Amino acid sequence: MAIAIRLASQGHKVQVFEKNAYPGGKLAELKLLGYRFDKGPSLFTMPKLVDELSELGNTEGKFVYKKLENITHYFYEDGTKLIASSDKNKFAKDIAEILGEDKMAVLKHLSKSAFYYDTTAELFLNQSLHKIKNFINFKTLKGVFNAPRLALNKTMHQKNNSAFKNEKTVQLFNRYATYNGSNPYKAPALLNIIPHLEFGLGAYLPEKGMHQITEHLYDTAKKLGVKFYFNSEVEKIELKNNAAVGVRINGQLYPGDLVVSDADIHVLYNKLLPNEYAPKKLLNQEKSSSAYVFYWGIKKEFKELGLHNILFSDNYEEEFNHLFTKHKPYGDPTIYINITSKYCEADAPKGCENWFVMINVPHNKSGKAIEYADELRKNVVSKINRILKTDIEKLIEVEDKLDPLDIEKQTSSFGGSLYGNASNNKFAAFLRHANYSSKINGLYLVGGSVHPGGGIPLCLLSAKIASNLIKDDLN
Ligand SMILES: Cc1cc2nc3c(=O)[nH]c(=O)nc-3n(C[C@H](O)[C@H](O)[C@H](O)COP(=O)(O)OP(=O)(O)OC[C@H]3O[C@@H](n4cnc5c(N)ncnc54)[C@H](O)[C@@H]3O)c2cc1C
Repeated sequence: MAIAIRLASQGHKVQVFEKNAYPGGKLAELKLLGYRFDKGPSLFTMPKLVDELSELGNTEGKFVYKKLENITHYFYEDGTKLIASSDKNKFAKDIAEILGEDKMAVLKHLSKSAFYYDTTAELFLNQSLHKIKNFINFKTLKGVFNAPRLALNKTMHQKNNSAFKNEKTVQLFNRYATYNGSNPYKAPALLNIIPHLEFGLGAYLPEKGMHQITEHLYDTAKKLGVKFYFNSEVEKIELKNNAAVGVRINGQLYPGDLVVSDADIHVLYNKLLPNEYAPKKLLNQEKSSSAYVFYWGIKKEFKELGLHNILFSDNYEEEFNHLFTKHKPYGDPTIYINITSKYCEADAPKGCENWFVMINVPHNKSGKAIEYADELRKNVVSKINRILKTDIEKLIEVEDKLDPLDIEKQTSSFGGSLYGNASNNKFAAFLRHANYSSKINGLYLVGGSVHPGGGIPLCLLSAKIASNLIKDDLN
């Protein structure tokens, strides 16, 4: 929808073909009895990227969001609790008091995170990495000259472990690798850029929950004249003289001067372009993790919980070893609980809460049924009972779930991986597909499986990059 808005505002006539009956892909919602759940993303950063789209469609003011004062409530197995305030000083002071950390070490870490962002965002996030001309400008050269200060040879864990005394602080900062489905024990220290998104740029929530992003972009696109076709699965991208000339749906050709694909690159090459050369090296990169989500309507309010809550595993390294090496969830998983009814009262009946309970699990490469579901649910229930001192089973009045197979079935992402390729090596940023095809004229790519990566902000940036490439190419 973001690329549709950008192209429509450039004067193009845009048609969107979506295989589902609804817009938004992973950014969908679920309604169960009196409860509303955001089905996928729950953390919203860089809202300005949505504002830019509102400006293009003259829908400013219709999308209202709130900056979070407290970002995440952390719970450790030994009973330690910590609330991460968005105020850096308070956050550092609380870590110093509760975890015995040096306050200055926390502030230094956050300013390093800001430095990573300022030095590399222009090169890695805001432009195509695949056009040589983009490497010859001041901002990019700044990144290249600062390379020795970017700890390129260290993993995220190595860097965090040397920065902090307490392993609980290390765990807290290692967790940011999961924001793009990666393993902090393998991912480069440069991923320490992510805390800056929360503590520097801010964490937000739309006033009606995350699905409001989908609704707003859909309205904005329609206002610009974008035509949507639902239940319309693209079977093939039609080519003529090495150029994309339209898409085929139910055997019918819908012609176009150019085609933009938001499908996972596995779908693009294996299904939509069956006779074209597939970039095997890119397709074979390690995938990001997937998720198992329980949607629970809970007939009680938990005062100790906030919007974002983390119940940490007692052995983080072993948890990631399970996810990325043993390819199964760990017996003591880290549990993320998101409760939008803390802010959006209409999301749950009075006195109740809408729990989105998510566990990182491996992507489901085999495509077979998920065998660990019952065991995982048992482990999750017992950990929640242990840490929150409750009997959660008795409080669940409605339940649904989303597993890697569902994610693949509903949005076509390979094995249900949430963010395309993982960033588990220092070259990962360069091993994502470009936002254009170098072999087929008039074919452009956006979304979580291509540059700059997965997650809402990066997907929105992929649309910005691709629309700029299209403008340049047409000129
Ligand atoms: C459980 C979960 C939690 C997440 N948490 C966060 C979070 O907190 N913050 C964050 O920023 N991100 C989060 N993400 C990741 C984020 O949702 C994705 O990176 C992003 O939404 C991907 O957008 P996309 O447009 O690339 O893909 P999708 O949202 O998957 O959209 C692709 C669309 O293409 C359609 N499609 C595919 N093939 C075809 C075809 N052949 N014909 C027609 N249509 C087709 C699909 O039906 C789908 O609608 C989460 C994801 C999940 C699932």
